[in-house]
Amino acid sequence: MKHATPLLLAGLGLALAAPAAHAQNTALNARIATLAAAEQAKVVAWRRDIHEHPELGNEETRTAQLIAAQLKSLGLEVQTGVARTGVVGILKGGKPGRVVALRADMDGLPLTETTGLAFASTVKTTYLGQPVGVMHACGHDTHVAMLLGAAEVLSQVKKDLPGTVKFIFQPAEEGSLPGVVGGAKLMVQEGVLTNPKVDAIFGLHIEAGTPVGQLTYRPRGEMASSDRFTVKVLGRGAHGAKPWASVDPVVTLAEIITSLQTIVSRQIDLTQDAAVVTVGTVQAGVRYNVIPPDATLSGTIRAFSPKTQEQIWAAIKRTANGIAAANGATAEVTIEPYVPVTYNDPDLTARMLPTLQRTAGVANVVEIKAVTGAEDYAYYQEKVPGLFFFLGGMAPGANPATVADHHTAGFRVDESAFPLGVKTLATLVADYLTGK
Ligand SMILES: [Zn+2]
Ligand SMILES: [Zn+2]
Repeated sequence: MKHATPLLLAGLGLALAAPAAHAQNTALNARIATLAAAEQAKVVAWRRDIHEHPELGNEETRTAQLIAAQLKSLGLEVQTGVARTGVVGILKGGKPGRVVALRADMDGLPLTETTGLAFASTVKTTYLGQPVGVMHACGHDTHVAMLLGAAEVLSQVKKDLPGTVKFIFQPAEEGSLPGVVGGAKLMVQEGVLTNPKVDAIFGLHIEAGTPVGQLTYRPRGEMASSDRFTVKVLGRGAHGAKPWASVDPVVTLAEIITSLQTIVSRQIDLTQDAAVVTVGTVQAGVRYNVIPPDATLSGTIRAFSPKTQEQIWAAIKRTANGIAAANGATAEVTIEPYVPVTYNDPDLTARMLPTLQRTAGVANVVEIKAVTGAEDYAYYQEKVPGLFFFLGGMAPGANPATVADHHTAGFRVDESAFPLGVKTLATLVADYLTGK
């Protein structure tokens, strides 16, 4: 290129600058990979400790102490008592930049563990008045341990991080007692995404039925919204032998239950979104020959977009009120929104997909179908762009059809899953902050 014009030289300069920046990022990623692998013994130790001492939602005081002590030992700025028992650690990188958050949930479930693991829980408590065991039956112990690992890894490379990392350890993902606001919703209310303001958030959930080494995800609606609804039909009671003297709430409720089945099957565009309307309880009457004055049902609604969610709410009200009116009764419809859609921001997901593919290998990153379960991580994603993905936790060679599922007493995951989880969390932060 003897006769290069100034324009061409300028172009060449740009072309040279890009690989140099990329090489620096690659070096950082390589250091993170080495450090993440070296964390495994500690991550396993934290996980076993937390697993053996599980705590129910909003009661995670021992877990919070362990987390806070570890974050302080790394020199992080630590806030405790966030949303009751939550812990937030702030790591300032060596250069100015954006703010990225990583989230782990901390709570166990009221179940008596039957795994037979050496570090199985023997903790007992009472839940809603009943004696129960307590168990990490959803893997939140592993989430805490892996996020502590990622915090230590990122602390070791902090001088090369342009920006700030917020480590969010959240209580009560599985839900709080009736009438109590907790978990992600309360953390957001208490300002966890502000001061400094979070630009993006990442989180993972371990999966008992997905092989170790895999990461799975879905852009846009990944996990469903979850709302509870009740319909109370107010009629008029009468002797069971004189139904003409009644406004029968039992027959009216039965009609409503049948008609609710047509909301998803006839009214929702199922090529766009799956949805679920399930009636789970029906209550009416106390005696076989008495028509009661009222009857009540309750159920759950699952949707993958706010639009579908609102369409279902409107359809339930219309159906219940219309059928009640046709029978001369009235209906009281209550809809209690519980968790919004776990919605992976499409731009952020597309931007970070190469990071997932680099950490796990392209073949090990799998796009999945929507999951009708719900996850309160959705509350963060309502406020800031977020990506939530799943980490394979099934032992090599196991059969996904027969492994013990989440929320069962035999639930277990393979600890060889952890290095990929730690590496992926830390690499997402590094790549997001360095703009890769
Ligand atoms: Zn769970
Ligand atoms: Zn969970």
